[in-house]
Amino acid sequence: MTYIIITILILIIILLLIRLSITDKKIKEITNYTTELLNGNYAHRIIKKEKGNIAILIENLNTLAEKLEARRLDWEEKEILLDILFEGIREGLVITKKDGEIIKFNSSIKSIFPMVSFQPGKVIQELWINRNFIEFSTRKPEPNKIESLELDIPEMGKSFLISRFYVEKNQLILYFFIDITDSKNLKRMKSEFITNLSHEIRTPLTAIKGYLEAIEEPDLNKEDRKKFLRIVRENIDRLTNIVSDLLLLSDIERQERKLKTEKIDLNELASEVILLFRRTAENKGIQLEFAPSKIPDYYGDRFLLQQLFINLVSNGIRFTEKGRVEVSINFANERFYITVSDTGIGISSDEIPKIFERFYTVDKSRSKTQGGTGLGLSIVKYIVQLHQGEIKVESKLREGSKFTVILPAIQSPSS
Ligand code: ADP
Repeated sequence: MTYIIITILILIIILLLIRLSITDKKIKEITNYTTELLNGNYAHRIIKKEKGNIAILIENLNTLAEKLEARRLDWEEKEILLDILFEGIREGLVITKKDGEIIKFNSSIKSIFPMVSFQPGKVIQELWINRNFIEFSTRKPEPNKIESLELDIPEMGKSFLISRFYVEKNQLILYFFIDITDSKNLKRMKSEFITNLSHEIRTPLTAIKGYLEAIEEPDLNKEDRKKFLRIVRENIDRLTNIVSDLLLLSDIERQERKLKTEKIDLNELASEVILLFRRTAENKGIQLEFAPSKIPDYYGDRFLLQQLFINLVSNGIRFTEKGRVEVSINFANERFYITVSDTGIGISSDEIPKIFERFYTVDKSRSKTQGGTGLGLSIVKYIVQLHQGEIKVESKLREGSKFTVILPAIQSPSS
């Protein structure tokens, strides 16, 4: 009997020991599992063999792992989208903490400001030693409101619109940097153009008014009246020239991208323009020369190219007192080289870059008395650009000037 009781007791102890060891093994497995979860490894699962509370615990842990895995994938997707947005944008973007510490920035900001070193951890106020920017970025941010600053950076020759947006929930500030140099220049050029235009128009109008008043004087002699009438006519011509040049300029600007391209024999076109100016050149005692050479047909806008020849040849004649004005056209390396050279007054090297600006004339009074508007070369430059070409000037004061227009051979529109 005692033997049986002892055997039963031993069996109970063995069963208890076995159960204890299973629980201990499982607890170890569960501990490892939670460590994996803590380390971000959500793919692992425990196979449930037990019953009761341990089974519920395992099931809960497996569900938690599944949810964490789904959330991570969702988060990764969001991060990829954010990166695409961040990197795909042309504007510079910087995210900082509320105190200005940089957390994230895109590559555009680095190409916009190559001289500034962007680093996470740096404070945004350190980027430029610029009082306005430091003041702007140090100011207490207003939640969910866009604040902006226009900043000129003279050492870069650029202007920026800097906007910032404070997301109160995350205590983060998003900075946008937009390059507004071109639009600012355009605005400036527009207002300069209007100022110049008003000036250019007012001058002949004042002259016309003044001389007409003088003509009205009853005791004006016949000779003076004739002289004043000539001046009035000259000023009216000047106004007409300005208006037609402006109309041509705006017409060219509007025509952009839809050139009326046709087959052109440039030799023929040049000869027509030479014919137009032969009398004027003869009257001035200037030789006007053009020797056609063997060149292929060009495909371009006939009317605009005619204007180009007219402006260059007329300048050559107007700014030459004696000697020659020569036109030549050559073809080499798939390019047409049109040159108009003269033995005139020449242009100094510091004036050369300016002569293509609208209304720019080296010698105002000289240009005006000769019917100039200061618009001719800006029209020429525009026409050249429309034909994907370039224009070069070589000139020496009192020796003469040579304008070379290089036009790439454009294929026939039908080919
Ligand atoms: P303008 O109507 O005054 O000729 P342009 O735009 O054609 O205006 O030329 C601008 C200025 O460039 C002229 O006023 C003149 O000072 C200078 N220029 C142009 N062509 C010549 C040239 N062949 N020789 C000397 N100066 C020139």
